[in-house]
Amino acid sequence: MSTTVVPNAQKSSITMDPVFDELGFPKDPNNLYLQTVATMLHAAEVLDLRHRVKIILAQPKNEIMVHFPVRMDDGHHKLFKGYRVQHNNALGPYKGGLRFHETVHLDDVKSLALLMTMKCSLVRVPFGGGKGGVKVNPREHSAAEMERITRRFCSAIMNMIGPEHDIPAPDVGTNAQHMAWFADTYIMSNESKEANAGIRVVTGKPVEFGGSLGREKATGQGVVDTLVELLPEVGIKVNGMRVSILGYGNVGSWAGRILYDMGAKIVAVADHTGAIHNENGLDAHALAEHCAAKGGVKGFAADAISNDEFYRTKVDVLIPAALEQMITDREAKMIDAKVVVEGANAPTTPAGDRIFNERGIEVIPAILANAGGVTVSYFEWVQNKTSTYWDIEQVDRELNRHMVMAARRTVLARQRYKVDLRTAAYIGALDHIGKAYAVRGIFP
Ligand code: GLU
Repeated sequence: MSTTVVPNAQKSSITMDPVFDELGFPKDPNNLYLQTVATMLHAAEVLDLRHRVKIILAQPKNEIMVHFPVRMDDGHHKLFKGYRVQHNNALGPYKGGLRFHETVHLDDVKSLALLMTMKCSLVRVPFGGGKGGVKVNPREHSAAEMERITRRFCSAIMNMIGPEHDIPAPDVGTNAQHMAWFADTYIMSNESKEANAGIRVVTGKPVEFGGSLGREKATGQGVVDTLVELLPEVGIKVNGMRVSILGYGNVGSWAGRILYDMGAKIVAVADHTGAIHNENGLDAHALAEHCAAKGGVKGFAADAISNDEFYRTKVDVLIPAALEQMITDREAKMIDAKVVVEGANAPTTPAGDRIFNERGIEVIPAILANAGGVTVSYFEWVQNKTSTYWDIEQVDRELNRHMVMAARRTVLARQRYKVDLRTAAYIGALDHIGKAYAVRGIFP
C-alpha cells in the first residue's frame, strides 16, 4: 500500500483511489459525495488505514428516503421528500442535523453524514455520524405548515431513529422550535412510562424543554475557540483582526458577535440577499437583529458591495458560514485573506482548496472548526440522560476543552505526517475510528 505524502490540494483528480473503482462509484468531479470521500480516502492512505475500514467508511450504513403528504393552510395536500442517512455508528449512536432546504438531495445528505462521523471522532464525542433533511423551501411556508411538515417527517422516520440509536439536531433551515415539535411528536407517539427518555431523540431543543444553555451559539463559539487556538501559528491577534463572513445565519452571526465582542473588526458580510462593507467594522449585534427581522443583510446601514468585492476585501480571516461548495477556484483566486475558517460544512471545493494551497492561505477545515455544535449537542444529551442542567460556564469550559484538544490533535497530525490541515484533521478522526474497528473486529 502506498504511503506517499501528497497534500490533498495537489491531487490532480478525485478518482485516484482504487476504492472508487472497487465500489463502482460514478466519477463526476463536481459531486460533493465523491469529493468528500476522496478527501477522506486521501487521509486514510497517508495514515495507512486498513482497507476494510476504508470501504466501510466510503459508504453510509443506511440511506433512508421517505415521501409524506402534508396539508397546506389552503386545504390542499403537498407531497414532501425526506432523507435520513446513517453513515457510521462504530463509536456511538448516529448523530447529525436535519436540513430543511429546497436543494436537499441524497448525495449531499450522504456527504454531510460522513462529515458528522469525522467531526464526532475528531472531537472525541461518543457518537457516530448521520444527517437528514427535507426538500422544502422554508420561506414558502407558514409556521403552521412548517410544524405539520416537521411532525409528519418525524413520524415517517421515527421507527428508524431513537435516543440511543440516531439523534437528529438543527441544521440549515431548522432551529430549536423544529426540535421541540420533533421531540414532542416522538414522545407522544411512543407513550410508555419511559416516554420522557424520548426527549433525548433530538438535541438543540429550546432551553425550556430539555435544551442546553450555550447550544444555540455553540457552532459559532467552536469556530472562535478553534481560531483562537490556531491564530498564534499564523501570527494574528484577535484584537483589531479584520474578518469577513459569508452567511449570517446561526453559525456566521454567532461567530461574528463573539469575535466582535473580543475586539475583532467585522468589515464585510455577504449572504443570499447581498453583501455589505464597513471599513471601520460593522456592528455584529445590530446586524444579527437586522437579519433576524429582514431575512438577510440587505438594507443594513452600510455600503452595499458586489459579491466579487466581498471576496476581494482584504481581511485577516474569512469565515464561510453558508452552504457547501460556495468557494470554488474562482472565489479562491479573489479571496484576500490569511486564514479561512470553515464554519459551514464543505464550503470549499477541491479546486478552491488547491488555489488556497498554492497561495499559502491557511484553511481550518470544517470537521474541526464547526464541530462545536455537535459537541454541545452531546452535552445536552448527557444532561437529559442524567436529569441535570449545566450552567453556561460549564458548557463553555467543556466545549473549549474539546475544541482545543481537537485543534492540537490536528496540528500534531500535520507535523507528524507533513500534510495540510484538512488532511491532518481527517487523520485525527480516522485514527480513532480505525483503532475502534481494530479492537471490535468485523462481525461475524
Ligand atoms: N448540524 C450541525 C452540524 O452540522 C449539528 C449537528 C448536531 O448537533 O448533531 O454539525
